[in-house]
Amino acid sequence: MQSDIVTRCAPSPTGYLHLGHAYAAGLAALRAREEPGGRFLLRIEDIDTTRCRPDFTQAIFDDLHWLGLSWEEPVRRQSQHFSDYAAALDNLQQRGLLYPCFCTRKQIQAEIAAAGHAPHGFEGAVYPGTCRYMPAGERTRRLAAGEAYALRLDIEAACRHTGREKWPLHWHDEDAGQQTVTPELLAQGFGDVVLARKEIPASYHLCVTHDDALQGITLVTRGSDLFAATHLHRLLQALFGWPVPAYAHHPLLLDDTGERLAKRKNAPSLRDLRAAGRTPAAVWQQAGLDPAAFQK
Ligand code: GLU
Repeated sequence: MQSDIVTRCAPSPTGYLHLGHAYAAGLAALRAREEPGGRFLLRIEDIDTTRCRPDFTQAIFDDLHWLGLSWEEPVRRQSQHFSDYAAALDNLQQRGLLYPCFCTRKQIQAEIAAAGHAPHGFEGAVYPGTCRYMPAGERTRRLAAGEAYALRLDIEAACRHTGREKWPLHWHDEDAGQQTVTPELLAQGFGDVVLARKEIPASYHLCVTHDDALQGITLVTRGSDLFAATHLHRLLQALFGWPVPAYAHHPLLLDDTGERLAKRKNAPSLRDLRAAGRTPAAVWQQAGLDPAAFQK
């Protein structure tokens, strides 16, 4: 028997929500209503304590309520669950799949420049693996000296570790269809990704995949800018034995000039629109969703 649909909206409180967020939240809420037992969750992705603010979190609740959305309580706030992510990292560490990386951004750039080429991945230049090859003695010495480090996933070791028979991995996107993930795609597209940052003991990729599994999300709806990231998330699911949800990556809303709203600093926030007298119905309309679906 198929379980009932569970969707989520997972904003990061680094600013006020804009129309693009309303669209993403509305879509997730509507999809959950497709089945009688469907559930819609809201998750606050606030691990980046340098950029996230409690008042932005409160604004997310206020703005989404104003739009007529409701969700299951309690809301998971990632910043309250660092110990969960630490346990997941510890698990990978035990299996020898992580290594400390002491490199600064500058050093990585210099290394890439010296190599004369920068293999380009989904998230920019791929890390050249400098710290992977560090002699054990130097690693121990630098750790003991208290140098700051990030934790990187040894992507090739991780692919081997999941077991040969599992490859290629697959995931399904509602629009794009079945996707195939190979070790080559992960090595070239991501390389040794950071799973815990120097200043934050976790990373987006780890936390989002962990929480989608923990919360039993069956359909992940999110912007198409995160499409490629799902290949990596699929590897994490294989490593941890987590269930694989279905995915629906949706187009990002654009402004009049064709630029994506999320990137534009001055995209009007939902609270700007509200202050200017716009009604929730008008906002839904502008986001391209049927206002009637959200009337209380
Ligand atoms: N927290 C992410 C963001 O605000 C979204 C994560 C996701 O939907 O997977 O961009």
